Amino acid sequence: MAKKQFKAESKRLLELMINSIYTHKEIFLRELISNASDAIDKLYYRSLTDDSVNIKKEDLEILLAADKITRTVTVSDNGIGMTKEELENNLGTICKSGSLAFKEENEKTQDVDIIGQFGVGFYSAFMVADKVTVLSKAYGATEAYKWESDGIDGYTVTPCEKEKNGTTIVLHIKPDTAEEKYEDFMESYEITRLVQRYSDYIRYPIKMAIEKSRRKEGSENEWEDYTTVETLNSMTPIWKKSKGEVTDEEYNAYYKEKFANREDPIKVIRTSTDGIVSYDALLFVPASAPYDFYTKDYRKGLQLYSSGVLIDDNCSELLPDFFGFVKGIVDSQNLSLNISREMLQHDRQLKTIANHLEKKIKSELELLLKNDREKYEKFFKNFGRTLKYGIYTTYGTKKELLQGLLIFPSSNGGTATLAEYADRMKESQEFIYYASGQSEERLSKLPQCQSVKAKGFEVLYFTDEVDEFAISMMAEFGGKKFKNVADSDVATEEEKKQAEEKAQDNKDLFDAVKDVLGDKVVAVKPCVMGAEHPVCLRTEGEITFEMERMWSASAPDGSKVRASVILEINTEHSLFEKLKAVQGDKETLGKYARVLLDQGRLIEGLPIDDPVEFTSLVCELMSK
Ligand code: ADP
Repeated sequence: MAKKQFKAESKRLLELMINSIYTHKEIFLRELISNASDAIDKLYYRSLTDDSVNIKKEDLEILLAADKITRTVTVSDNGIGMTKEELENNLGTICKSGSLAFKEENEKTQDVDIIGQFGVGFYSAFMVADKVTVLSKAYGATEAYKWESDGIDGYTVTPCEKEKNGTTIVLHIKPDTAEEKYEDFMESYEITRLVQRYSDYIRYPIKMAIEKSRRKEGSENEWEDYTTVETLNSMTPIWKKSKGEVTDEEYNAYYKEKFANREDPIKVIRTSTDGIVSYDALLFVPASAPYDFYTKDYRKGLQLYSSGVLIDDNCSELLPDFFGFVKGIVDSQNLSLNISREMLQHDRQLKTIANHLEKKIKSELELLLKNDREKYEKFFKNFGRTLKYGIYTTYGTKKELLQGLLIFPSSNGGTATLAEYADRMKESQEFIYYASGQSEERLSKLPQCQSVKAKGFEVLYFTDEVDEFAISMMAEFGGKKFKNVADSDVATEEEKKQAEEKAQDNKDLFDAVKDVLGDKVVAVKPCVMGAEHPVCLRTEGEITFEMERMWSASAPDGSKVRASVILEINTEHSLFEKLKAVQGDKETLGKYARVLLDQGRLIEGLPIDDPVEFTSLVCELMSK
């Protein structure tokens, strides 16, 4: 029988993992037990909706065995089993579609450990075994198959005998080395320790035949060996244990194992309610965004249990999109096990739970914001965008819930919440000022931004595309409206008067510039502030530069969307004199005006219409 090869990329990963990634080789047992438990879950779940599946809940179990003579450790389950195709597909390749792309992307940038993020659990068997034999029979199938591999040279799949449905995994344990005593993994006390440490909460009994000795009845010094089958795990799910009983470490370990993540969660949330609908929930806020989080492939959801039995692996109704990053479980005794029946009632209960959770998650995030700013900022970097989208896509109806969670980079340094900003507002200040663009650094240098700051007003920097859209849905915060610095007039009456005078004095010039620029601008005015730049662009009306930028990038006909631009010319700048000098020469004035307008766009970080023309104009004017 010819061996099938692992896919090339799987092979590399396999080597990587066997040799380096998991330093704790002992976790192989946890991985295999989790898979066994999942397989039983799947079968049980199927039995709820498929009448042809007849199983007894009390029969479901995971069996372990260790044999020092054959040097094997066996993990057996009576779960759903695998067909021949499933054996090949599930165990023949490590990388599943999405993960490969992720790996390549990350290989270029940084060394992200993807092993923890994806399903490679089964392969951890090769850390302790030099050969793995998997016997599996899918539920309802008549044939069983044997998958076998040494982890390096590929694998074989052949028919075999197996009476019952489920999967049996036989690990042929490696010979001991100077550094590693693999033999320990065949000791029943060691196996017991590992189960209690890593798999205690598994809801099916994990049983093992354990050999013991006892004094022979009626005898003082004669001993006999006997075997008892013991259940090694307590089967109490972690969320059912009292809060004091579970350490942070245990929560973290549970999260990492259950949700295949390498990092500790940034926040653990436990909540339970007794009422019309009672439930326990154990939720986690991940420390970083999954690679597909901001794509449509990402599926939000929580695991839903009914009295300790998994009924939905990913129940999306329990989470609003804007909290879609939250992972975790909800266990309720009020849910009907038969999901197809009583659908409506079920739905209403789910909604009640979802509403509670929404409030709970919000208040926990608020606490984090209040008590650990640094951690919160890290959280916000990853998931802040989702919160803002939440405000935008719900048309502001979730504003009250979410606005307190927003933070923005501020001209005061660091970040500011809207409440902090409002507290610091000057008495004379009418608006919450913001500047919108790609980077904080660039925004802080914008002429309009500088003039607002010069008045002593704080400016929030909106560097996320969604920021302005979210704000537009909020309309105001604490009675104060938001205002883009590009659309702000912070000049004092005195300054306005001066500007007006300048405008009158130089009316012909401004008119002439407007004339040569045509409908590229809606007006040309003098600058009312002492900006260091020769020009400054402002917008008039609803559409801001940021919106223009976003639309041009997304919509195919987006380039047609243009903000209404006011070109302001700095009358203090030496260039202004130059303009006056060429005022009579319409052609030259036109060239100056076009260069100035493009400069304004460049300062804003906007593309210019014709870079070639711009460059040749600059060259022409420079060489004069
Ligand atoms: P993961 O469990 O993270 O998906 P694994 O490499 O551990 O990754 O397993 C790959 C797949 O093989 C599983 O998703 C499951 O479909 C299948 N599998 C593994 N162990 C079993 C088992 N004991 N019974 C049935 N299917 C299994």
